[in-house]
Amino acid sequence: MLSDDEIAHRWGGVQQSVRRSTSAATVVAVTKTFPVEAWASVIRAGGHDVAENYAQELISKSEEFSRRYPGLERPRVHFIGRLQSNKVRILAGHVDVWQSVDREVLVDEIARRDPGAHVLVQVDPLGEADKGGCIPGQVPELIARARERGLVVDGLMVIGPTNGDPLLTRRAFERTVELADEFGLPVRSMGMSGDLDLALACGSTMVRVGSAIFGDRPPVR
Ligand SMILES: *Cc1c(COP(=O)(O)O)cnc(C)c1O
Repeated sequence: MLSDDEIAHRWGGVQQSVRRSTSAATVVAVTKTFPVEAWASVIRAGGHDVAENYAQELISKSEEFSRRYPGLERPRVHFIGRLQSNKVRILAGHVDVWQSVDREVLVDEIARRDPGAHVLVQVDPLGEADKGGCIPGQVPELIARARERGLVVDGLMVIGPTNGDPLLTRRAFERTVELADEFGLPVRSMGMSGDLDLALACGSTMVRVGSAIFGDRPPVR
């Protein structure tokens, strides 16, 4: 892993991109595959938010963080990976924001295991199917169901198109912002290392940044 100094430097660079844009976006540091030290580096650099993709990895880091850094502010922990409903029970208590809620069973299970939790509805505006997200037509039902069950819907989350075509990416981000506006949702979680500036230009309020802060990840699963 990179040194604290190097991470703080890269963190500053991402913050600068945010300041240069017209959006006031929260930077969520994506720490998947990096050790728990990455959480501590984010806090020391002045960040407050980390995100994880895998249930067991998140839980291990959450427990390890409490043991190893009792004096340090605890980050707000976001779950951003493909979520299986049977993982919700073990994740509850470790997750502060459930970002990848894209179907009814997840709404129901989160409401049951983590009452009153904050969630984002993940949308797949281009119908790519391979990385989760509901079609835009399902967004109203999911929001309504989540609210009925006492969850707090902060906003929408989207993952830009895999092929990185800027025109398609822009279309996906703009559609997401339109939907968020339509439902009066303040949070638009969009933009990663590769499409950060475009996301900010389109009105992102939350970017999820991994490699631009921590360097390249070792290849996963
Ligand atoms: C891994 C991941 C990110 C961060 O990706 P980088 O390209 O490393 O910035 C953001 N969002 C999701 C959903 C991810 O899985």
